[in-house]
Amino acid sequence: PDSKLPALGTTIFTQMSALAAQYQAINLSQGFPDFDGPDYLKERLAWHVNQGANQYAPMTGVAPLREAIAEKTAGLYGWLPDAASEVTVTAGATEALFAAISALVRPGDEVVCFDPSYDSYAPAVTLSGGILKRIALQPPTFGVDWQQFAELLSPRTRLVILNTPHNPSATAWQAEDMQQLWRAISDHEIYVLSDEVYEHICFAQGGHASVLAHPQLRQRAIAVSSFGKTFHMTGWKVGYCVAPAALSAEVRKVHQYLTFSVNTPAQLALADMLRSEPEHWQQLSAFYRAKRDRFVQALSNSRLEILPCEGTYFLLADYSAVSDLDDVAFCHWLTEHVGVAAIPLSVFCADPFPHKLIRLCFAKQDATLDAAAERLCRL
Ligand code: PMP
Ligand code: GLN
Repeated sequence: PDSKLPALGTTIFTQMSALAAQYQAINLSQGFPDFDGPDYLKERLAWHVNQGANQYAPMTGVAPLREAIAEKTAGLYGWLPDAASEVTVTAGATEALFAAISALVRPGDEVVCFDPSYDSYAPAVTLSGGILKRIALQPPTFGVDWQQFAELLSPRTRLVILNTPHNPSATAWQAEDMQQLWRAISDHEIYVLSDEVYEHICFAQGGHASVLAHPQLRQRAIAVSSFGKTFHMTGWKVGYCVAPAALSAEVRKVHQYLTFSVNTPAQLALADMLRSEPEHWQQLSAFYRAKRDRFVQALSNSRLEILPCEGTYFLLADYSAVSDLDDVAFCHWLTEHVGVAAIPLSVFCADPFPHKLIRLCFAKQDATLDAAAERLCRL
C-alpha cells in the first residue's frame, strides 16, 4: 500500500535486542531492567486477579490509582490535580504520548522537539499531519539555546515536546529551563507535552524539574510518566498523564478509542504499591545512582570516554579513541565481536549526528554491569 510512514523501519530497540540475542551479547541496548520489580507489587497483582478484578477498568483508570497518582503529584510538585478529571491511566507512556499528539496536532500544525529525541514522537506527529521542527542539541551538555528556540516558533506552532530526564542523552533540565520555556511560549497558544518517564531517576542537583511544578506551564501541559520505569516492570505497560481538565478531556477522546482502558488488576496492584511502599520510588534515584557510579568506576580503565549522567538509566560513552566506525556500524561490531549491545545516538536525530556516542543501559544487576565493563575494558 501507499505507506503513511514510508521511511519507517523496525525500532532500533527491537533491532539491537534481536542482534544481542543472536550473538548472545550482554544486552545494554533496549532500556529494561534484568531484575524483577518488588515482591509486594507481584503479590498484589495475584491477589486482585484472584479476587476477580478481571473485567474492564473505567476508561480513565481505576479510582484508587488515579487518586494515588494525584497525591504523589501534590507531594512532589506542589499541586494536587483532580483525580477524576486531570489524571488518565494509559497503556504505558507510549499510549499517553500518542493520544496527546493525536488529540492536539492538526494537519499543518508545527511541533517543536529537541534532537536527539525519543523515537515515538515523530511518527505520531506525522500521522496527525503535523510538521516537526527539530532543534539539534549538541553533546556533551545537550543544552537548549532559548534564543534559537524562540526564533523557531511561528503562528503555526501548536505543541512543544520535551523529555526530562532525557533519553538518550541522560541530561536533565533545571527549573530555569522551564522558566525559559514559559517565557518563550506564554504569549502564544502553544501546548507542552512533557515526557517525564524518568522523573524518579534523577541525579541532578536541584532534582527533577517537572512541568507540573511550574504554576503557569502546567496549565498548558500534559505530563506523561510510566510505572514501567518506576517499578522495574516495563512489560506491564501501565503509564499515565496529568493535564488540566480541558486538555485531559481531549486526550481521553483519543484514549477511549485507542485502548479504551488499561489492565484492571495491574492498576489496582500499582495503587496498592504507591500507597503502601512509597519508599520504593522515593529511593529509586539513590538505587540507580549506585548502579551508575559502579558502572562508571568499572569503565574508568577503558578507552571509552564517559559523559556526565544526570538522570535516566542510560550512560553515554564516546568511543572516538577506539574506532573510526560510525555509531550504527560500531554498535553492530560491538555486539558481534565484544559481546556488548548498545544503542547508537544518531538514530534519534534527523540531521547528521557525526559524534561517536553510544548509549549503555545500566538498569542491570551488578554482576551484569561488571561483566559488561570487563568486556568494554578490552577495547
Ligand atoms: N518515553 C521515553 C523517553 C522512554 O524512554 C520510554 C521507554 N523507554 C517511553 C517513553 C515509553 O514508556 P512505556 O514503556 O511506559 O510505554
Ligand atoms: N524506551 C526504551 C529505550 O529507550 C525502549 C522501549 C521500546 O523498546 N520501545 O530503550
